[in-house]
Amino acid sequence: VASDPGARIAAGCGKSLVDLLRLRQGLPGCVPDAVLHPRHRRDLEGILACCARHGIAMTARGGASSVTQGLACPGPGVALDLRTHMDRILAFNAACQTVTVQPGRYGPALERALERAPELFGAAHRYTCGHFPQSFQFSTVGGWAATRGAGQNSTYFGKIEDLVLAQEMVTPAGVLRTGAFPAAATGPDTDQLLLGSEGAFGVLSELTLRVFRRTAEPRRFSYLLPDWAAALGAAREILQDQAGQPSLFRLSDPEETGLLLATHRLDHPLAAALLNRLGLRPGSRCLLLGSTEGEPGFARNLARRIGRICRRAGALPAGGLPVRAWERGRFLDPYLRDDLLDLGIRVDTLECAAGWDALARVRRAVRAHCAARPRTLCLTHLSHGYAQGASLYFTFVTAPEAEAEPGPDPAAGTRAFQAGILELLVAQGATLSHHHGIGRMAAPFMEAHLGPVQMDLFRAIKHQLDPQNLMNPGGTLGLDRP
Ligand SMILES: Cc1cc2nc3c(=O)[nH]c(=O)nc-3n(C[C@H](O)[C@H](O)[C@H](O)COP(=O)(O)OP(=O)(O)OC[C@H]3O[C@@H](n4cnc5c(N)ncnc54)[C@H](O)[C@@H]3O)c2cc1C
Repeated sequence: VASDPGARIAAGCGKSLVDLLRLRQGLPGCVPDAVLHPRHRRDLEGILACCARHGIAMTARGGASSVTQGLACPGPGVALDLRTHMDRILAFNAACQTVTVQPGRYGPALERALERAPELFGAAHRYTCGHFPQSFQFSTVGGWAATRGAGQNSTYFGKIEDLVLAQEMVTPAGVLRTGAFPAAATGPDTDQLLLGSEGAFGVLSELTLRVFRRTAEPRRFSYLLPDWAAALGAAREILQDQAGQPSLFRLSDPEETGLLLATHRLDHPLAAALLNRLGLRPGSRCLLLGSTEGEPGFARNLARRIGRICRRAGALPAGGLPVRAWERGRFLDPYLRDDLLDLGIRVDTLECAAGWDALARVRRAVRAHCAARPRTLCLTHLSHGYAQGASLYFTFVTAPEAEAEPGPDPAAGTRAFQAGILELLVAQGATLSHHHGIGRMAAPFMEAHLGPVQMDLFRAIKHQLDPQNLMNPGGTLGLDRP
């Protein structure tokens, strides 16, 4: 048990811009009264029983990298830190290609063990889980599952809900275990009902994940496409071509392309002049970064077909170098946001998913909303692609003087801006979130987005598993909001 202020604040704040702004002002808000470090499932069962007896609220925490205020503490209660002791690999099954792991394990520790499967588990191959979110170094398996996260190679490996085969969750109503079957027709899928429950149904204590054999180095490619419409068309063609799915697949709009070329020093004047002559002008050209992997013949063929589709759309191949440049900073660049705050520059991100027929419209609407805000830049990229649509990821950069906060809440303006975008996403037919989850940030929009019948179903599950509303209460998923 830890009850020092540092541990309590760290357990009650995530990494959303609202969290960062409040912390910088010394206003962490309400934080847990104590942080508990369970050692195993039996500890969890004991803690949950004790808290139920005394009516104490509980919030499970993983890496605390939530960007949706998922850990915000609404009142008195305790945090359960799963990373301290519950981070072990419990089983590796080479025959079924699965790994069973405790929820507090960080991404790099999981990947290191899978890579060393021959040495650690006597396996014949090296493996990967294929889940590499940008927060890879600072997020945990339990947090991934609780938020329905996506890694940057999810177009090929799938999102976490495709990777989780079975779960064990300790709930106030008892321990719930699902079976590690490749598939089942035993009624609705309990795993899918638990995935994304953001700590509101119980505490994940064990997860069985699918793993994949490691294959040769991915084949990296990049293309510069003439404009967003051509780029979207090519992306859709690639993902519907039936030749297989690329692994990394990230298409930046003109604004983000400009920034990427500049920050990765790919905007040499000679190259810029050549691109202009080829009709790939700044302000309209779009950069596609990607890779293919798997069996070498498959990866080669897919890369070739992608090249053909891009060239038909008027693209110029730019080779693997830009992908390598992006990879070098992919787990670090997002934290520039924290340094920029020293200069008063606010960087925030929101993401969604929509069908191919809605993507252009959604981006237009978000940009129009942004244009109405003084000195705010909107960068967009498409990633996590599917045959039916894709995720759009927005980065908002606001200059210092654009957002003076009038009242005592240093994040009031940020909150209002986020709310405006979220409302707009629902109105435009996009999801509220593709992989960050809901937390308290998007909770007020859940009922309008999903409708009352679906929300009542969620509330019924919540009531069944957590009748006293002790698990991460205070608006998570919009469950206990009026
Ligand atoms: C720089 C940066 C980049 C990011 N990039 C990505 C990205 O590429 N893809 C992506 O999907 N997300 C990304 N995120 C968001 C975040 O990393 C994910 O939501 C991640 O899955 C959260 O994991 P965590 O271990 O940090 O969980 P936490 O932040 O600690 O918790 C998140 C939620 O899960 C619940 N929870 C955690 N552990 C358990 C458990 N054992 N049982 C029940 N509930 C639990 C918590 O109560 C909370 O509601 C990014 C965040 C940052 C700061």
